[in-house]
This record gives sequence, C-alpha cells and structure tokens, in this order.
Amino acid sequence: MRFSDITGKEELKRRIANTVDIGRLPHAQILLGKEGSGGLPTALALASYIMCENKTDGDSCGHCSHCKKSLKYIHPDIHFSFPVVKFGDKKREHTTSDDFLVKWRKILSENAYMGIGDWLEYIDAGNSNPNINVKECNDIMTKLNMMSYESDKKVLVMWLPEYLGNEGNRLLKLIEEPTDNTYIILVAENQDLILQTILSRCQLVKIPVYESNEISQFLVDKYEILKDKADQIANLADGNINLAIQIGTNESKDFSDMLITWLRVAYKSDPIEINNWVSSVTEMNKDEQKNFFEYGLHFFRQFVFRMLTGNDKVSLTAKELEIAGKMTSIINADKAEFIADKLNAAIECVGRNINIRIMLYADTLAVGDVIRKN
Ligand SMILES: [Zn+2]
Repeated sequence: MRFSDITGKEELKRRIANTVDIGRLPHAQILLGKEGSGGLPTALALASYIMCENKTDGDSCGHCSHCKKSLKYIHPDIHFSFPVVKFGDKKREHTTSDDFLVKWRKILSENAYMGIGDWLEYIDAGNSNPNINVKECNDIMTKLNMMSYESDKKVLVMWLPEYLGNEGNRLLKLIEEPTDNTYIILVAENQDLILQTILSRCQLVKIPVYESNEISQFLVDKYEILKDKADQIANLADGNINLAIQIGTNESKDFSDMLITWLRVAYKSDPIEINNWVSSVTEMNKDEQKNFFEYGLHFFRQFVFRMLTGNDKVSLTAKELEIAGKMTSIINADKAEFIADKLNAAIECVGRNINIRIMLYADTLAVGDVIRKN
C-alpha cells in the first residue's frame, strides 16, 4: 500500500512521511484510531515508504525492488504481527501470525481498512478468543535482533497490540532499546486496552475518523454508488470507512424505502402485508439485517434530534429529510423513541438464536398500535 492508495488524510500522510524525510522517524510509535479510520493502511504505507529507495513527493515509488515486495506484503524485512487463533492441527501455543501470513496478505490486498471482526471471520476463528501469544513475542525478538535481509532497515507492523495482554511486557526491552534501524509501528484502536508500559514508551500518533463527505466520495469513486445513496451510507457509518464499504457492497436494497414500507405496513396492520414485509427482511443475510436495523435506528435518532431542536443540520440525506418532514404529522418524539427501542432490540437479536420472524411480526404490530394512537 502506498500513501496515495489511502483515501483522504492528506495532512496526516504528509506529516508521517516527513518524519522519515527529516530522519525523525520514531523507533516505536502507535498509530491510534478507531476501526475504519485508516490506521492499518497508514502503517502499511509507512512501512513501504521506509523501505523504498526512490521516494518521490512524500510517497514510495511503487517500482523499486523494495516496493515490488512491500506492496505485496512479502518484503523479508517487514514483519507482521496480529491477533490469531489456533492454526489447523497446531497447538495454540505454537501458533503465530506467520501461520496466517497467506491469508493476511490476501485480506490486506482486498480491504486494508478491515476490523478485527472481518479478520476473525476470514480465518474462520469461530468462537476462539484471538490473541498475540508468548511464542509470537519471542519470535518478534528473534526476528528484529537478526540481520536484515535486503534492506538496511527492519520494520515490525503490529496490528492491535490490545491483544498482547501482559505478554507485551516481553517486548519492552525491544521498544526501549531498539537495535539500529529497527522501526516498530503499532496500530491500535483502543488506548485503554494497551499496556501502560508499552504506551508510555511509544510515540502516539492519533488518526482521526473519516468525515462523512470523505466516505461518501470514496464510495462514489471506488464503488460507483450513487451520490444520495453514498451520503446515506456515509452518515450511517459514522466515520468508519470499513463499515461503509460493507454496507455499500453488501446491500442492494434501499433501506429508506424499506423503512417507510415498514411504518406503512405497521400502520395498516394487515396480517398478509406484515408477513410479506417480515419475509423481505428474513430473506436478507444477517449482516444486511443488522445494517437495516442500524439504519432505522440512525434515522429515528436523527429524526428525534431534529424534532426537539428544530435543527435541520442532521445527518440525513435530502430524501430522508423529506420523509422526516412528512412523518412529523403522525410520529412525535415519544413514538419515535418507542420505534428506536424496538430497532435497538432487533440489532441485539440478530445473530442470536432468536426467531426473528416472530419477533418482527410482534414488533410491527406493537409499532402500529403506537403510531395509530392520538
Ligand atoms: Zn520504491
């Protein structure tokens, strides 16, 4: 990944590349940003930039012998460490990130904005708890103490040091007294879960979340999603570009139409219509169902905010604002809160062993009762 492959973040990319240019690259740093804010892509681009022997305009060249490898994540002097679970027949304590490198490279080339949930699904982790274990820490020590292979530098990119637990203390010496030309880049999402001993020894670089308009533009450019739809998804994603990609690529239905249909069906409470609507939801996969309920929740939260404050500066698209405007005659803030509660409960139920068909049927009747009340 090159810096130019990362959408937006121009100031941050310039600032980070500059630390390399002026010889002030910290030996150990933490790129800290919420899921989907671009921490991992930034670390990958930085690793390539460090190795590139033909840096131009604050980015790696993409052509030199180092770039050819680093951009495929196969550079022998760029090491990766990330949370994993047991691999195949190996015992967990013998398993390390290296066992998952093939999948790691593949998922990075597909979506480097991924979150831990995507990664665990990708490696079929099931219910196993991921972590970065003792063997991994020992291997890191060995790798970084060895001579480098092709470059005069060595880089470790560790994704989610939150999963180190106390084993992280094994790395303290390495972080504190790094060998020459060794650079440690930790990519974290939650500062509270990083060992204090590590935190205090690393330079902290905060990665801001994406702005809605950046995400919307990204969806339009990369996935050819229509502008209004992209705005809707961007608002819903709340700064998480990974979530926006998932919603944008997963779902073909127009959620705002589905939501309106639901309210209309609820209002009429005709059993056949309710059944049809419930079927349209249960036919979707679980991710889509969850996205739809989250969409509804987002809509009603914004709706209530607008109603209580009279402020039109809400995260709703033009089409949604029009819908919200029409709705105010029949749905007041209390009713909207009631509906939002039902949607919130529905989000919790997706993925659990609950009969979602029965739940949705009952919820639709209940929402209908509430809407019809004067
Ligand atoms: Zn290069």
